[in-house]
Amino acid sequence: MQFTLMTLPYEQTALEPHISAETVSFHYGKHHAGYVNKLNGLIGGTEYEDKPLEYIVKYAGGAVFNNAAQVFNHDFYWYGLSGTPTAPSVELSDLIERDFGSLEAFKELFLTAAAGLFGSGWVWLVITKENKLEIEQTSNADTPIRHGRIPLLTCDVWEHAYYIDHRNARPEYLEKWWKLVNWEFVSDNLAKVENDPIAGYSQSCNDDNEVCDYVDTMQENERTAT
Ligand code: FE
Repeated sequence: MQFTLMTLPYEQTALEPHISAETVSFHYGKHHAGYVNKLNGLIGGTEYEDKPLEYIVKYAGGAVFNNAAQVFNHDFYWYGLSGTPTAPSVELSDLIERDFGSLEAFKELFLTAAAGLFGSGWVWLVITKENKLEIEQTSNADTPIRHGRIPLLTCDVWEHAYYIDHRNARPEYLEKWWKLVNWEFVSDNLAKVENDPIAGYSQSCNDDNEVCDYVDTMQENERTAT
């Protein structure tokens, strides 16, 4: 199976003036596309050739993991942005207030974590198995789903995400990025977890193959066991 670059859910100009179309063009059209192409080149003829992306992210190592995780992370990043204003659901707002005090306090903590991450990586809002919201930093391609945590939102702090618009001024980019957060996406991710706390982010497989059958059976067994 060959992976294809996701289709952006908006025009490349949709995030302006906060993120320029030129940045989107390079970030999505060159960097993100590059990870997809490299992944396809690496998995041909290997045990990962017909596996779902999340399976590869969870079990592969080395360059296969790096490129698969970067595909997953970038898909998540683009879905987490919107050029039109959105608002958190009541459920999400309640959890943010409970775990961070307020949306403004969460913003401060999240952007501080993003500004302070050394080198290249990602900052995430995740929900733990104990139903607690946490801010998580991951380096390079690393990603929460590798470690069993469920992502709700991510910010890409690789320099390729902002160098065209802001050179090396990461904090400037972060303030602009914050204005674009797609709270509906974050709220939907939370709702999926609340509707199905066991499967969490791992949605059921729809492909007709052995791995999906296995994943679906395991998820069904876990549901019926509780
Ligand atoms: Fe990136």
